[in-house]
Amino acid sequence: MHDNTKIIKATTVKDPLTGAVNTPIALSSTFYQNDFDHFGEFDYSRSGNPTRKAGEQAVAALEGGEFGYLYSTGMAAISSVLSIFSQGDHLLVTKFVYGGTFRILDDVLSRFGISHTFVDPTNLDEVKAAIQPNTKAIYIESPSNPVLKVTDIPAIVKIAKAHDLITIADNTFMSPVLQKPLSLGVDIVVHSATKFLSGHSDILAGAAVTNDPGLASRIYFIQNAFGATLGVTDTFLLVRGIKTLGVRMAQSSKSAQQIAEWLEAQPQVTRVCYPGLKSDPGYAIQQKQATNGGAVLSFDVGSAENAKILAESLTIPEFSVSLGGVETILSYPPKMSHAEMSPEEQLACGITPGLLRFSVGLEDPEDLIADLAQGLAKCN
Ligand SMILES: *Cc1c(COP(=O)(O)O)cnc(C)c1O
Repeated sequence: MHDNTKIIKATTVKDPLTGAVNTPIALSSTFYQNDFDHFGEFDYSRSGNPTRKAGEQAVAALEGGEFGYLYSTGMAAISSVLSIFSQGDHLLVTKFVYGGTFRILDDVLSRFGISHTFVDPTNLDEVKAAIQPNTKAIYIESPSNPVLKVTDIPAIVKIAKAHDLITIADNTFMSPVLQKPLSLGVDIVVHSATKFLSGHSDILAGAAVTNDPGLASRIYFIQNAFGATLGVTDTFLLVRGIKTLGVRMAQSSKSAQQIAEWLEAQPQVTRVCYPGLKSDPGYAIQQKQATNGGAVLSFDVGSAENAKILAESLTIPEFSVSLGGVETILSYPPKMSHAEMSPEEQLACGITPGLLRFSVGLEDPEDLIADLAQGLAKCN
């Protein structure tokens, strides 16, 4: 089955009670038990809920996984998955990691004795050399936020398997439509479902998917123990959003490619980060492991001053944090998503003062390009 068919099938689950084509919102914290000795599938909604289950199965199906879990936010998903590790465990983490993941590792998990080393995942020798006797997992994100660095997922998986390590991939930027990490050998996929999966900048949500029954039971145990589960109304909205994931990703990534090519030719733009561009260092690997370059790009206009001029001149994009919505979103990583990092840490990850991130929505690309053209004309 192709992706668009799979998306509709996975999100159209006939309700056994009424035949409703959409899974009803089961707003019930507790479930009546018919039998004193044998309880039904659902007892309490933190442990399991039919609406959440439908959403979890849909996300799992799209990633090609058997076990799916939904959380209240992407960070709840990531924090919960990282909590399967124990005191004394060590993790290798891409240094191009999402700012919130950086924070949970640096300021929270380290307090509980789960240590980490940040590595450049594009340097496989550096990754191998950083493995310690107590290393348990490699955590990657490809393409990364915000400079779209591509990690060779099969190459990382090969290193991990040789050392008996779990691989965890944040697939937020690609969505399962453009990249399926489980099929590349990754053990656990995590998502900020706030972004492309839900797609409408309305809810916060997170997801984790695996095919490994042992990892699934560890993940489920923490999901139930922490209780950072996705509410049923938001699950309904997530599933509704997923129905159009295929067409949204196709349209937005096509526009992103067109915009990236155009930006590359502009004299005011010193650098375009987009793995769909032949000039991008990640292009060849991206071609192998993903469908295209995706719907997010970033570009440098040379200075913080120019970034401000451009952000204040553009009329179509929403100047805000986040990404993956139907509306184009322009953000300024140094002061937004990556404000947690010091200027030195930012520079080490390619987050320069003139860097802007552009999450392409569903507007006509010609209008976005015309808007960028008038804004860039005002830059110095
Ligand atoms: C937004 C984001 C997260 C965090 O998700 P929330 O839903 O905001 O908690 C994690 N990883 C990536 C790549 C993101 O873009």
